[in-house]
Amino acid sequence: MNNPRPEPADLLVRNSYLVTVDADRRILTNGAVAIKDGRVIDVGRDVQLSANYTAKRVIDAAGAVVHPGFVDTHIHLLYHLLRWSTNDGGDWNNSLPIHAEYATLVDEETEYLAAKLSAWEMARNGTTCFLEAGNLPIHDGAAAEAIEEVGMRGLIGKGIKDIDPSEGDSDSHRGAQHQSSETARAIKGLGSDLWRNSDSDALVRGVVNLSGMGSASDELELAAKALADEHGVILNQHLSYHQQDVDADDRRLGKHAIVHFAEIGLLAENCTFSHVNFVRDDEVEPFLNSGASIGWCPMASMLFGIGGTIRGKHLELYRKDANISFGCDSANWTSAFDIGEQAFMASLTAREKTGKTDALLAEDMVQMATINGAKSCGMADEIGSIEVGKRADLVIRRNDLPESVPSLDPLRSVMYSSRAKSVDTVVVNGEVIIEAGHSTKLDEIDIKVRANEKVQDLFQKMDRPIPSGNWPHID
Ligand SMILES: [Zn+2]
Repeated sequence: MNNPRPEPADLLVRNSYLVTVDADRRILTNGAVAIKDGRVIDVGRDVQLSANYTAKRVIDAAGAVVHPGFVDTHIHLLYHLLRWSTNDGGDWNNSLPIHAEYATLVDEETEYLAAKLSAWEMARNGTTCFLEAGNLPIHDGAAAEAIEEVGMRGLIGKGIKDIDPSEGDSDSHRGAQHQSSETARAIKGLGSDLWRNSDSDALVRGVVNLSGMGSASDELELAAKALADEHGVILNQHLSYHQQDVDADDRRLGKHAIVHFAEIGLLAENCTFSHVNFVRDDEVEPFLNSGASIGWCPMASMLFGIGGTIRGKHLELYRKDANISFGCDSANWTSAFDIGEQAFMASLTAREKTGKTDALLAEDMVQMATINGAKSCGMADEIGSIEVGKRADLVIRRNDLPESVPSLDPLRSVMYSSRAKSVDTVVVNGEVIIEAGHSTKLDEIDIKVRANEKVQDLFQKMDRPIPSGNWPHID
C-alpha cells in the first residue's frame, strides 16, 4: 500500500534498471532510489517510491542502468600532466626519470591541476571514489581542494619508505644501515592525512600509505599497520608489479613477500596491495586466509607487456573469494582513468587466458568495480552498493546510444558495448557532479587550457622535447 503522506527526499532517481550490488545482488528492473542528506533512504520498485516520496529533484532514468559508483583502488593523480610524455614503444621504466624530474618541479598549481584533471576524468567515466597511491599531498591542501571542487570522494596519504630498493642488493650491510637511519624518520611521516577523518562527512579522507615494492623495513611495515589499525583505515602499498620487484623482494626477504608478510603478522583484512602481477603457489593460502585486497591494474601490465594478466593469479584468487578490485594506476601506465575499461580488459584477458567464456562475467566486473573496490578502501559499510543507509554514490547511464540497442541485456550493454560513453549522470554524496556527461561544478574549458599551458611550461623547465610520435610531423 502506498504511503498516504509522501515523505520528503532530496533526490529521487526513478524508472531505472537498478543494479544494487547488495548482498543478494538484486537488480530491480523498474527500480527507484530515494536520497536524503547524502544517503540512500529507500530502494525499491519505482511505483512504490514515486508514491512514497516528494523529492526536491527527480531524475527519470528512462529505463537505463543505474549502478553504484565505480571505485578506483590504485591511482596516481600527480603525474596526470605527463600522460604520453614518453615515446610510444618505450620500456615501462623510461617514464621514471621524467617523473622524478617533474616531481622536483611540482608547485602548488601543478598539484592542483593534476588532481583536478584526474578527478574530472574519473568522475566523467563513472568513478566516484579513488584510493591514491601515495604521491600526494606535496603541498598541503592543493590536491584535496581540487578533488573536493570536482565533488569526488578520495583517499590520500603520503607514501612512506625507509629503504631505497635500488640499494643494498649486492651489499646487505649497506641496505641495513640505510634502513636503520631512516626508519624513525619514516615512521613519523606515516598517516599524513588521517586528521581529515575527524570529519566523517569529508569527501577526502586519509589512509596509511607506504610506497611498497621493497621500500619498507619490517619495522616500518608493522608501525604502518599499527597506525592503520588504530585509526580504522587501510594500509595501502604497491607489490610485485614487475619481475624485477619480485626478484628484489625474494633476495631481501629470503622468501616470497606474501609469505613473509603473513609470518611477521602484517597481512590482514585492512591491507590493500596494488598490482600483484606475480603470486607464487605458496603465497596463495596466506593471502586467502588474511582477507587482504588487491587493486588489480590489468592495463598497467598489458601496456608494457609485464605479463600480469597471463602469469598473475588475480582470477584464481577472485574465484577463491579474495577481494580483487580494479585500479587505473598512472597516466603513462594506462589508457584513461576509466575503471569500466579496466574491467572490460580484465574480462577479455581472463577469457583468453583460460579459454573459458565464463572466466569473468559482466556481473563479476561490476562487483569488482564497486563493492570490492569499497572493501579495498576500507569503506564497504559506506559505499560500493545502493542500499539504505549508505552514501548516495551512483551512476545513471543513458540507453539512447546505438551501442545500447537492442536492450536485451542492459548490464552487458553497459559493461561491454556502451561503456564510458553511456555515463550520463554521476551522483556523489547525493550531489549531481556530472550531468549529461559534463561536470556541474567545473569550468571544463578553463581546466583544459590551464593544464595544457602548465605542461608546456613544465617541458620548457625540464628542457625536454615534447614527444612527437613515430611519423614525420609537418608544421
Ligand atoms: Zn602505482
